[in-house]
Amino acid sequence: MRPEILFSLFKPVTSLSGVGPRIASAIERLAGAHVVDLCWHLPTGLIDRRYAPDVKDASAGAIATLTLTIDKHRPSHNKRQPYRVECSDDTGAITLVFFHARKDYLEKTLPVGETRVVSGRIEEFSNTLQMTHPDHIGTVEERDKLMSVEPVYPLTAGLSLKVLGKAIDKAVAVAPELPEWQDPALIAREGWPEWRAALTSAHAPQSEDDMAPEATARRRLAYDELLANQLALALVRRSMRRLKGRPTQGDGRLRERVVATLPFALTGAQETALAEITADMADDARMLRLLQGDVGSGKTVVALLAMLAAVEAGAQAALMAPTEILARQHLETIKPLAEAAGVETTLLTGREKGVARREILEKLAGGSTGIAVGTHALFQDDVEFDDLAMAVIDEQHRFGVHQRLTLAAKGRGVDVLVMTATPIPRTLMLTAYGDMEVSRLTEKPPGRSPIETRAMPLDRLADVQGALGRSIAKGDRIYWVCPLVEESEALDVAAAEDRFKALQGCYGARVGLIHGRMKGPAKDDVMGRFAAGDLDILVATTVIEVGVDVPEATVMVIEHAERFGLAQLHQLRGRVGRGRAASSCLMLYAPPLTEAARARLGIMRETEDGFRIAEEDLKLRGAGELLGTRQSGLPEFRLADVAVHEDLLAMARDDAALILSRDADLETERGQALRTLLYLFERDAAARNLRSG
Ligand code: ADP
Ligand code: MG
Repeated sequence: MRPEILFSLFKPVTSLSGVGPRIASAIERLAGAHVVDLCWHLPTGLIDRRYAPDVKDASAGAIATLTLTIDKHRPSHNKRQPYRVECSDDTGAITLVFFHARKDYLEKTLPVGETRVVSGRIEEFSNTLQMTHPDHIGTVEERDKLMSVEPVYPLTAGLSLKVLGKAIDKAVAVAPELPEWQDPALIAREGWPEWRAALTSAHAPQSEDDMAPEATARRRLAYDELLANQLALALVRRSMRRLKGRPTQGDGRLRERVVATLPFALTGAQETALAEITADMADDARMLRLLQGDVGSGKTVVALLAMLAAVEAGAQAALMAPTEILARQHLETIKPLAEAAGVETTLLTGREKGVARREILEKLAGGSTGIAVGTHALFQDDVEFDDLAMAVIDEQHRFGVHQRLTLAAKGRGVDVLVMTATPIPRTLMLTAYGDMEVSRLTEKPPGRSPIETRAMPLDRLADVQGALGRSIAKGDRIYWVCPLVEESEALDVAAAEDRFKALQGCYGARVGLIHGRMKGPAKDDVMGRFAAGDLDILVATTVIEVGVDVPEATVMVIEHAERFGLAQLHQLRGRVGRGRAASSCLMLYAPPLTEAARARLGIMRETEDGFRIAEEDLKLRGAGELLGTRQSGLPEFRLADVAVHEDLLAMARDDAALILSRDADLETERGQALRTLLYLFERDAAARNLRSG
């Protein structure tokens, strides 16, 4: 349970005075629903109000804090004229200007004859100084407070800096002093402040340097977050390890038969990966291994052979894919091979219902089915296996850490292999998987020719549409991917439908359309026709990003390529170049390109190496945005920037391991503080793995 000391931080933002439901909903969109989310919303700029000149020295354009005598109010006579307040000090005069002013309010805040401190931007207007809508007006006693450096926060529609700044001030004020969870030696070495002091100072930058990721307070907060992440991963992983594993060792007879039927030889990388996986399975600890390889690198065959090792040992194996299309595709690859070796396979998705489903469940429970392929339908409560020993999760960045780690509960000592086509940079691997074992398929199967990749402005679209005719005549099969429009699936679909109609106008019935709003059977039908060669062109939204395999597809057109991230472009391009024929990828963009977009398209033209692309992506975008975190399954960091804080991440990993080796259940005084840290960063699920202390 969340420790009481954190309760105030996890109250809704409406618990702060001055934050009503309307402001709260804007804050929620921007930062999150709880007080703690405001604490994590750090400033990205500042306004320095320490410049406090005499009026005669005040330079136009600058932000200044002036101490002025109020001389005269000059209300406006019509709506278009501003309300002016004439002010001065001993050295000169300045006019304060207000549009749509409320007279009574101004008379109260700026009483004639008195002295007031105003802060805002100095303007010069036909040789006189003025200040339009001062940011702050206060009394002489408030002068020091007004002459401050004010943090500037990222905003959202419906939220002004003033309102947000006040809410954040209050949130930070509510933050309690927390017991120190960091190692005192580390604190001393780095010269870090305590948590609360670090938070306060991160929100009160005095210079640009204070907002840099290397600033002391920011590093401390980033390290807290990274340590929470690494500790949580280490705990979840350990609790999996504590569940007893079992040795699963096949005799190789099924694998031999399948390898003999393959029309190709395994690559060296595939052989190595397979050896690593089967060694883990044979060990009596549970396997938790990641099989990482670019699209088309041949992970499925590796997974199949590993699953066969489980079947050889008399047990069952399951492969879970993130979507129905993918599950079906895996089954199509696996079924003929497995059945040639006499192993029964079955498909279980949300679509198998009624009697058919019951029959499948009986076979799984009875043990006659050796390999089950499916979606998360495989892990529903009523699905029972006779003896599940091995689970493969084709993650394709769709599942979260928790699904991944909890699913193994369907059997006894289930070995888990996670497959991912996301070439994650090493630094990020650590944040998503901790120090999970990794096998990498670094070489592509032989015989693939490089994909000719070009970028072209969208005004050539008509030419491109026309040129497809020649391409089709040559026997090409073409993907045409339509852009993401905002975050709205409906708009994506509309764009794809328009393109579909246009292409159909040219190429008739041999054009198909697939998008995320179509029902499963309709999608399968279109995919099936494209795979069979009944369609030449498949217009798609990014639904095809995930893993579909049509080796005959040789042309990829990406419309509005500038809107896609590098990783996405790479995944899309990976849909072609899977067979022996030469392939091409055409990225159509709308000029002018931003610098970042230009860099992305440039890298795409330069290389096909997914790992290199991932590293470049990290450099270009910063880890937060990498891969579109929302669907990547990678954790989002609020305070740490993995691209910059690599050293801290490595430290946190070692630190987490050391902590758990000394204080396995976080029961010492520091251990208790570390529990608080886990809850502070909402790693509640990991904390629940601990014995209650
Ligand atoms: P991934 O799942 O990694 O995207 P797949 O396992 O779907 O890749 O393999 C892509 C294609 O390459 C498939 O058509 C598969 O049959 C083929 N393939 C796999 N391994 C080899 C190999 N060693 N040599 C030649 N082709 C291979
Ligand atoms: Mg595959």
